[in-house]
Amino acid sequence: MIIQPKASHFINGAYIEDSAGPELAVTYPANGARIASLHEATDALIEQALAAADAARAEWAAMTGTERGRILRRAAEIIRERNRELSELETMDTGKPLSETLVADPTSAADALEYFGGMAATLTGEHIQLGADWAYTKREALGLCVGIGAWNYPMQIACWKAAPALACGNTMVFKPSETTPLSALKVAEVFMEAGAPAGVFNVIQGTGRVGAALVGDARVNKVSLTGSVPTGRKVYAAAAAQMKHVTMELGGKSPLIIFEDADIENAVSAAINANFYSSGQICSNGTRVFVHTSIKEAFLSRLAERMSDATIGDPMDEATTLGPMVSEAQRQIVLGYIEKGQAEGARLVAGGKALEGEGFFIQPTLFADVTDDMTIAREEIFGPVMSVLDFDDEQDVIARANDTEFGLSAGVFTRDLARGHRVVGQLEAGSCWINTYNLTPVEVPFGGNKASGVGRENGHAAIEHYSQLKTVYVAMGDVEAPF
Ligand code: NDP
Repeated sequence: MIIQPKASHFINGAYIEDSAGPELAVTYPANGARIASLHEATDALIEQALAAADAARAEWAAMTGTERGRILRRAAEIIRERNRELSELETMDTGKPLSETLVADPTSAADALEYFGGMAATLTGEHIQLGADWAYTKREALGLCVGIGAWNYPMQIACWKAAPALACGNTMVFKPSETTPLSALKVAEVFMEAGAPAGVFNVIQGTGRVGAALVGDARVNKVSLTGSVPTGRKVYAAAAAQMKHVTMELGGKSPLIIFEDADIENAVSAAINANFYSSGQICSNGTRVFVHTSIKEAFLSRLAERMSDATIGDPMDEATTLGPMVSEAQRQIVLGYIEKGQAEGARLVAGGKALEGEGFFIQPTLFADVTDDMTIAREEIFGPVMSVLDFDDEQDVIARANDTEFGLSAGVFTRDLARGHRVVGQLEAGSCWINTYNLTPVEVPFGGNKASGVGRENGHAAIEHYSQLKTVYVAMGDVEAPF
């Protein structure tokens, strides 16, 4: 199936091609077949996109929040109406099973548009009475925002950035990952259909080179990146050089702590979701699963049993529950970690191999007896590989959970809710769960501590990262001066 878009880029309300840019081949991860051929943006197109977003700023920011919100909510409706078609596109682009994309990709994008669309009209400043004088604050747009996405949730990432940005009156140039360039173009189309003025949301394709050019442009006021920590460091530094606002949604190596009183069936379900959903390609995954020694064997045997029920195969078949990795390159990275895990002495309980035949598939893999110093317990793998570590003592497991440069997420399973809150209170992570894992509804702020990021997406918190306050002091009397 070829799903060639009309053109590679979407600028100022229309598709546009420039075949002078290097070719970007798009492949279906389930069989490696080429499904589209795009071109990286040339310098001329990067300039066109920035100029369009810059020119659209004034009109968009001058509209009322109600007007902007109506457009975002209409865009949400269109996405929901086309959920199946857009989910199929996302599955072809990422390889994630349709059973996931139907419920987690366009729907999550629509949720963000609906939520921030609803909020747009409510964004206000405050009145501060100072005796007879008074002051007020106005919440203003930042201006031109750049969004840069990773390949695991392309459409969701585009809308988690675009929705709050546009609600606040900003415009955006978005660059998807070169690996998954297709669905962001659909988001741009939908915005136009929903009535957004041309230039408010633009998409250009390319590798890190294009991203870096966008970040370095003086017209850009804010950069929001979803990506790895090394890329985050580069982008943050480049943005800081020009004092731009940033949101950094970066990687993780998050702990999931399962106490002896946990409901084992639920804990196993959460560990599965925290490691194998989207073939493990989720930033917030709980990939260090600390299990109390008293329940370790029961946990492992039930987990291995449940893992054997995974249906690996054609992502377009709704019965499939585990798809391929996004690319052969990512599969090789993950296989390299599996080899290291075995070489460093972890016990392979299940999986561990690439699937023979076409596509970039890997078996869901479970390691036990993992220790804190092993590479698989320290580095983000971004694949279906779970590491189970043992613990006996609450304070000890908290210290070990925090002993990482990352701080994106954490989870705790216990029937003792006082303990759940006490432990979560000490975990150095931005997004925590008690007795569940990886639920990220749009109402709830999401983001990382430490090297995992800066700022928050979603919830009211996101508004702080796409707007700024102007303070106006109003004098009601005469001005006093010393001379
Ligand atoms: P990368 O960091 O490799 O890339 C992220 C994006 O940045 C891509 O679009 C990439 O372009 C672009 N980029 C690369 N170099 C630069 C640069 N110098 N300047 C500007 N842009 C640049 O991440 P992946 O795409 O491999 O995604 C996986 C990573 O993303 C994982 O670490 C994961 O944890 C993280 N992630 C974090 C999430 C969160 O919310 N915290 C959610 C999802 C993923 P290209 O790759 O196309 O060349």
